[in-house]
Amino acid sequence: MQSPTVTERLLATTDHLIRPDRNLNDCQTWIHPRLTQSVDPIKGRQLRVSQPVRKGELLLVDRPYALIPVVDHPEESEDIRCSHSGCHRPVARTGERVSCPSRCSADVIWCDRSCRDADQSRHEFECTWLKKYATSIRLKWGEYDFGMLWLIVRILASRHREIQQKTTTAPQRDERSGHAISQSFKTGWTAIRSFCGTQETWSHSQVRHWTMLVKKYLANNPSSPHGMSPGDVLDLICQEEANSFGLYPRETGVLPLLDPPLDRGEQFGAAVYATAAIANHSCYPNIIHKPDHQGRMVFVASKDIAAGEECCISYFDLTKYSDLKSRRDHLQASFRFVCRCDRCVSEEPREEQAQWDELPSVDDF
Ligand SMILES: [Zn+2]
Ligand SMILES: [Zn+2]
Ligand SMILES: [Zn+2]
Repeated sequence: MQSPTVTERLLATTDHLIRPDRNLNDCQTWIHPRLTQSVDPIKGRQLRVSQPVRKGELLLVDRPYALIPVVDHPEESEDIRCSHSGCHRPVARTGERVSCPSRCSADVIWCDRSCRDADQSRHEFECTWLKKYATSIRLKWGEYDFGMLWLIVRILASRHREIQQKTTTAPQRDERSGHAISQSFKTGWTAIRSFCGTQETWSHSQVRHWTMLVKKYLANNPSSPHGMSPGDVLDLICQEEANSFGLYPRETGVLPLLDPPLDRGEQFGAAVYATAAIANHSCYPNIIHKPDHQGRMVFVASKDIAAGEECCISYFDLTKYSDLKSRRDHLQASFRFVCRCDRCVSEEPREEQAQWDELPSVDDF
């Protein structure tokens, strides 16, 4: 028999909550009616709840604006996701899986012909780019830069399709109630453009490197006609790098840790989400997050959350960085900020706390 703690955690897993309770349509974004966004003078945009939310409640199911697979040996992997942006389900190795007739990249795979056909106009935008650059970028700059550039190309492809379809401002609806989802949340490209992150967020050498990559690989051209200036594409990279999610098979943000600790597993993808990106980080988060079977980012309350309280996720695997220094070093290196969450502040040595106390607090603004 499982211990009460393990059972409790199983009840809080996202799959359990979505399947029986919500009849969510494919591709749908769903936002809890009590989830709102506000702006803090220091931290910028943040998620809050307007009324109390109970532990275990589903708060967000956010459809990716762009998603790429990150798997070794895509031909054999069971973790690779269908390229069709309306599907993104795991593609079984033994099934009907279909590749691109132009053989642009082994990482581009669809469940079947219907997914490939439905994804044709979006894939056209990236096909020539992949064929021309995928191998050389990987050889010259490595997997990380390739993944980053491909994710940018997929963002530009979604934007291109959005412009063509001119559906940017159409409000999405909650199928059950018929209510438009919260008007305070931007959607589509408008949301991506409002992400935090600028050239000043990153080091000069990092920005120089991205400037070079943009010039070399992301210029506007007839096969990938994005129509943006190199400076705008560079700004987009600065935003994407500060806001994209790694996709892992298990929850991120479970605390207290299981005994023995269970990490979130092998990364299988990376994606950007319009609403999930607003969530700030805490090393003691009140939300656990995980992508669902279609790559939608799912937020579930892991504690009771009081009215007006901020909703935070953990940006990293809490089993990996446990002490104050390792957490802060990791966040500084990867996300460019010094974490001052309640847990970090409570673990600071006394002298350091006194230093912070002399600085003006958020309330003084
Ligand atoms: Zn599919
Ligand atoms: Zn192709
Ligand atoms: Zn912290």
